[in-house]
Amino acid sequence: MSGLDTRVVHAGRDDFRALGVHTPPLDRSTTYPLTSLASGTEDIDELAAGGHPVSSSVYSRLYNPTVARWESAVASLEHADEAIAFGSGMAAVTAALLAAGAAGHHVVALRPLYGGTDHLLTSGLLGTRTTWTTADHVADAIEQDTALVVMETPSNPTLSLVDIAAVVEQAGEVPVLVDNTFATPILQRPLDHGATWSLHSATKALGGHGDVMAGVIACDADRARTLRQVRIGTGAVLDPQAAYLLHRSLSTLALRVRAAQGNATELAARLVDHPDVVRVCHPSLPSSDPHGLVGRQMDGPGGILAFEVAGGLSVAGRVMETVELITPAVSLGSTDTLIEHPAGLTHRIVASEAQTSGGITPGLLRVSAGIEDVEDLWKDLDQAIGVAASG
Ligand SMILES: *Cc1c(COP(=O)(O)O)cnc(C)c1O
Repeated sequence: MSGLDTRVVHAGRDDFRALGVHTPPLDRSTTYPLTSLASGTEDIDELAAGGHPVSSSVYSRLYNPTVARWESAVASLEHADEAIAFGSGMAAVTAALLAAGAAGHHVVALRPLYGGTDHLLTSGLLGTRTTWTTADHVADAIEQDTALVVMETPSNPTLSLVDIAAVVEQAGEVPVLVDNTFATPILQRPLDHGATWSLHSATKALGGHGDVMAGVIACDADRARTLRQVRIGTGAVLDPQAAYLLHRSLSTLALRVRAAQGNATELAARLVDHPDVVRVCHPSLPSSDPHGLVGRQMDGPGGILAFEVAGGLSVAGRVMETVELITPAVSLGSTDTLIEHPAGLTHRIVASEAQTSGGITPGLLRVSAGIEDVEDLWKDLDQAIGVAASG
């Protein structure tokens, strides 16, 4: 297998020379001409079983070649047999729960998780019964009826790292879903550590430019069949135009992730010494990585950091309102730097006791580093904190 930096540029493009093209062909067809009734029937049978078409895609909800190309590229980066794309990260989370047979059954989940995932599990919208636990107590939480273990590392928003292999071992026969959105496949491949599914909100770094919503799950060929069946049945498909943009973005993923990571590491180091900052969370800091997972599980600390300002909610609010270059906005993984307040925004729908135990304090701000000049980012952040703290 070629190197990661080669694969981000070339994966999913194997047939381009034969096709005589240099960029991914964008196929917007909703339906496809059939050469014969018999071949169409054969395709329907294969697609309905979650497979690939034999001769025709038949209908775009069943299979789309532009989407399939990006999926195969993601699978290659995640060291997976296949990857299945969805219309958003939450559509992917929902599909994973359905494919695991978790609807109406028991799930073990590790907090903190993305607010939307936490809410989906807590609300019981899919009929799941959830036991919330921490990495050390997964084995105790498993029941006869447990269909799935859900975890995220680095976690959102406090960047705590969880040992995937240790959770997989405790889960025993129960499959483990890892939300790999924060790390990206550039920094972490959960299947290499025994996870069953690696999931992304591709809206974030995979898309990388703040203009596409998508989700994707990498897994083995058997699980991929089930996920494709769920996607066909629920209609949670990815638009081919979005898949085209995602494939285009993939070629710069490694460059973007490393540039953002460099900026996040520098900002975290400077924030540690800032008089108005009481806590900094970034896996480059020993306090955020007590088990030494950077270098072992993750190839680098990543581009997201969080910090807590002295003075709590009002100061944090003013920082968000005072930044000029940095955009006050939710989401992450874009080329530009974003800042947001987890307790008031992304994690607002998470139960307050879970916020407290998850370290989501009123003074906490999350920063998704972009690829700008780090001195400009620091100047903006430093002035905003200064203004906010003295106001
Ligand atoms: C954004 C996000 C999601 C949800 O993805 P959408 O594309 O917004 O549906 C899930 N997990 C994590 C870690 C996220 O950051």
